Order: sequence, then C-alpha cells, then structure tokens
Amino acid sequence: MRIVIVGGGTSGWMTAAAFCKTFPDWDITMINGGDAIGVGESTTPHINQYLRYMGITDDVFLPAARATFKSSSRFDGFVQEGEVFHYPNGQSVLQKIKFQEWMLAKAFHPEKLPPFSEVFMPFVAVAETGRLPLNKDILDPYDLAKDRSFHINGAAFSKFLRETFCKNLKVVDSTVKSVATKGRNIEHVVVTGGPYKLGGQKIFGDLFIDCSGQQAVCGGALSKWKPYGSIVTDSALVVKTDYTNRETEMVPYTNAKAMTAGWQWTIPTYDFLSRGYVFSSKFQSEEDARKEFGYDDARLIKFENGRHERAWTGNCVSIGLSFGFIEPLESTSLFNTHHGILALMDLLQEAPLPGQFQRDRFNHNLCEHMDGWLEFVEAHYYYSRRRDTPFWNHVTDGVEYDVSGTHEVIQYIMNGNEPVTHGGTPVLHILAGSGYTTVNKRLTEYFQYPELVTRRKVDEWAYRHQCVLQYAETCPPMSVFLESNFDYT
Ligand SMILES: Cc1cc2nc3c(=O)[nH]c(=O)nc-3n(C[C@H](O)[C@H](O)[C@H](O)COP(=O)(O)OP(=O)(O)OC[C@H]3O[C@@H](n4cnc5c(N)ncnc54)[C@H](O)[C@@H]3O)c2cc1C
Repeated sequence: MRIVIVGGGTSGWMTAAAFCKTFPDWDITMINGGDAIGVGESTTPHINQYLRYMGITDDVFLPAARATFKSSSRFDGFVQEGEVFHYPNGQSVLQKIKFQEWMLAKAFHPEKLPPFSEVFMPFVAVAETGRLPLNKDILDPYDLAKDRSFHINGAAFSKFLRETFCKNLKVVDSTVKSVATKGRNIEHVVVTGGPYKLGGQKIFGDLFIDCSGQQAVCGGALSKWKPYGSIVTDSALVVKTDYTNRETEMVPYTNAKAMTAGWQWTIPTYDFLSRGYVFSSKFQSEEDARKEFGYDDARLIKFENGRHERAWTGNCVSIGLSFGFIEPLESTSLFNTHHGILALMDLLQEAPLPGQFQRDRFNHNLCEHMDGWLEFVEAHYYYSRRRDTPFWNHVTDGVEYDVSGTHEVIQYIMNGNEPVTHGGTPVLHILAGSGYTTVNKRLTEYFQYPELVTRRKVDEWAYRHQCVLQYAETCPPMSVFLESNFDYT
C-alpha cells in the first residue's frame, strides 16, 4: 500500500508516526511543505489515547514535547466581568454525589456551596491556586496519570515523532502544486522541483492523507465547505513570551480571559508562555485588537470556522485543519486530529483495502465528533451573561445556536437522571459554571423536594473543599515538580 501524506504540521507528523508504527511494511511518503501553525498548544485529555496507542510514556513525552500538565481550562470573565469557572481535564468524577444534588443545592442553599467543578473533581480547587494537584486521598478518585492533558510545543512534539517513529518514512521537502484526479480518486500529486530541477516530480499513491492545514490542497476540492456560522471569531494575534517567574506563571491550567471582541489565552509550555488574542474582525479592527492585546510583535493568523462535508472522499482522507476548525477555545483541534488518526488506524487494520462502508463510517464519526464539540464550544458563549460589548451582545443574544443536544441532556437531568456516562458532563460544567442550574425552583418547591439536598450535605462539601484548599498549600508549583521528576535537558 502506498500512502502519501501531504503537509508536515503537527497533524502530518502525528499521522506519519501512527502509520509508520502501525504499518511498518507499507510505502509511506510525506511531502513536507514548510511552516506549520505552531502557536504553543493546549490539548484535551483524549491525547492520552494517542500517546497510549503510540506507547509514549509521560517521562518521554513531557521533555520531548516541552510539555507541562494541564488540569483544566479556566474561564475568566466569560460569565461576567470578574467571575471565574473551570472546565476540568480529567476522567475521574466523584461518583457518590449526584449532579442533580449540586443543582438543588445551588437553587436552595447557595451560600457556602463550592463551585460545581470543585465538588465533583476536587483537584480543580488545587489547580485554581496555581499549584499542581498530586495524588492524595483527599482528591480521590483523582489520578495524575490520567486526569490531565498537556500544554505542548507542537513543533518539538513533531520533531520527536519524526525522530522516533519515522525512520522508514520517505520525506520530500517540497510543496504540492497540482493534484491529478481520476474520477473521485487522486492518481498523483505534482510537487515543485528543487533549485536544480526543472519541472515537478509526480508522486503516486493508493491513499492520500491531506494534512496541509487550512490550504486543504488535496481534499479541499473533493468535498464542499460547510461553514460554522455561529462562531464569529476569525483572527488571532499570537506571541510567545519568556517566563518572569516560572513558579507562579507555570500554572496547571489554560487561562481563557474574555476580551472586548473575543478572548485571550495563556498557555504555559515548559520553555515559554504562549499567548494569543482570538477576536472577531467583524467587531474589532486589527489595530484596536493589537492595542488591547498589548504585544507589538504579535503575529496575525486568520482562520475559517467550519468543516468539509466529508473527511474521506475517494482515496483522500483529510486530517487536522484540512478537514475543519471550530476556533481555538477548549483546544478541540488537536483532539479532532488524533481522533481522526486513531479512527483511521482502527479502520485500516480492520480492512487495509477500504471501501464505501469504511469511508462512510469514518465520515459519520468525524463529522459527528466535530459538530458535537462545536456545540460544546458554542455553550461558552450561549450561557454567558455578558452584554457589555457589541461582540458579547452578539454571541450571547444575536446568534441562533442549534444546541438541541445540550437541551436533551438538561431535560434528562431535570427528570432526575444522571448522565448515563460522563459523556453528558462537558456541557454541564459550562452550564453550572455560568451560574445556571437544571432545577425548576417553583416546581421543586411545589412538590416539596428541596429537602432532597440538606443543608448538612452542603456543609459536608464545604468542609471537604476547605480541606482540599489546605492540602493545596502543600502541593508544589508545577515548575518545581517537573524539574525534579523529569529530565528536560
Ligand atoms: C490561532 C490558533 C490557535 C490554536 N490553538 C490550538 C490549541 O491551543 N490547541 C489545539 O489543539 N489546537 C489549536 N489550534 C489548532 C492547531 O494549531 C492545529 O490543530 C495543529 O497545529 C495541527 O495543524 P495542521 O497540522 O492540521 O495544520 P498546519 O499547522 O497548518 O500544518 C500544515 C502543513 O502543511 C503544509 N502545506 C500547506 N500547503 C502545502 C502544499 N501545497 N504542499 C505541501 N505542504 C503544504 C504547511 O506548510 C504546513 O507545514 C490553533 C489554531 C489556530 C489557528
């Protein structure tokens, strides 16, 4: 089987490494065309699945990707100025409390109630102090080995994947300038010749993997673009800055701070702080955004929100930005990338010569996945109570969101059910973090249910929360923990 991967960004190298590991006898080529986005990325815990598949352990991954741990995403000012909530990056949720109990407590005994995320995932309370939560009974069932994601330097991670897994990969340092198709299939691509070569070289393949980013040079023309009209951010000013104080600035969360026409991220990688202001050019000019962001040397990146109708057409599979992008909020992009890579590996191991059935399964999977996470990203704006700038007014009140999935979850919980799995929880964190409950206070009082959550229970949660905060004082700053446990030299 001849595989041709077009594009050597993070998606390209993650794909190439997975192919080389899974199919060592296949003929695999990468066309490595130049600069990747490379901002210094935040990830989601699902990256653990990719790392497990590749057999990459923390002691190798953290130094290689110049990575730090991420316990949560922290939203500052999304609800309203000065209010903060977290979206935890973990799997271990305290099972003995029901979500509905917190919601009832919020409705009837809000005084001492700790935040939603800190009741169900107490490690978040430690993260909020800026220190790294370590395994300790008080945080049960937390486990740092799985309840985390990472802040990474994508370029360093790519270099590591190339050196470790891609020894048999043929790398062509060139760019695709044309694509020759036969019916719905790509027959070959033509790459630009080097300085001493006239004309281009043809590269043939059985399966083409388009990892060329937003250019989508192979798959783009094969499938229509479906814009995500509800998302209005379309630009980012990005910059990397040095740490001034590693102990206080290398926090175990991605900070997302609401701004006039969008939000600003701070991502602490091991070597630098990645900062970016994601804004909507419809609501703020680049010049004003630059002034508000405050970094003269910031690089401007424009992006489109949406996805192609199909990720796999004929013999071309799009992975990464070439398939689509929501926006940087909640780091769903690399998540979509490795979700696609692992789905592809599963299918190709099942049927190395795939047909329509595999393509349809893959397309259904990737489209549902991305549209599902779109709904999650939308929730951050949808539940916001800000109305103080034209941007926030628009995203809270001027967009027709289709969040039917979210409302199904809410209704299900209002009927007294817990989410069947914790699959239903992402949006609950945003809902509760934004100050809403799933409780109808009037009906609950009418049926005399308030006593379902007693004041005593809230006192118990508040006491535990206090103990967690005391424990937090004994936790190390993340920089100290990483330096003493991993070899970053
Ligand atoms: C502002 C911003 C912030 C982001 N923040 C995050 C984040 O925090 N977390 C996260 O998960 N994701 C984030 N993303 C997305 C993330 O950057 C991408 O998912 C990730 O970098 C993978 O991108 P990629 O490899 O698909 O595309 P790219 O990085 O764009 O790489 C594409 C590669 O293809 C090459 N190429 C293009 N055309 C050709 C051609 N004709 N021939 C050969 N090669 C070609 C390019 O030179 C490049 O090397 C962010 C994106 C943006 C825009």
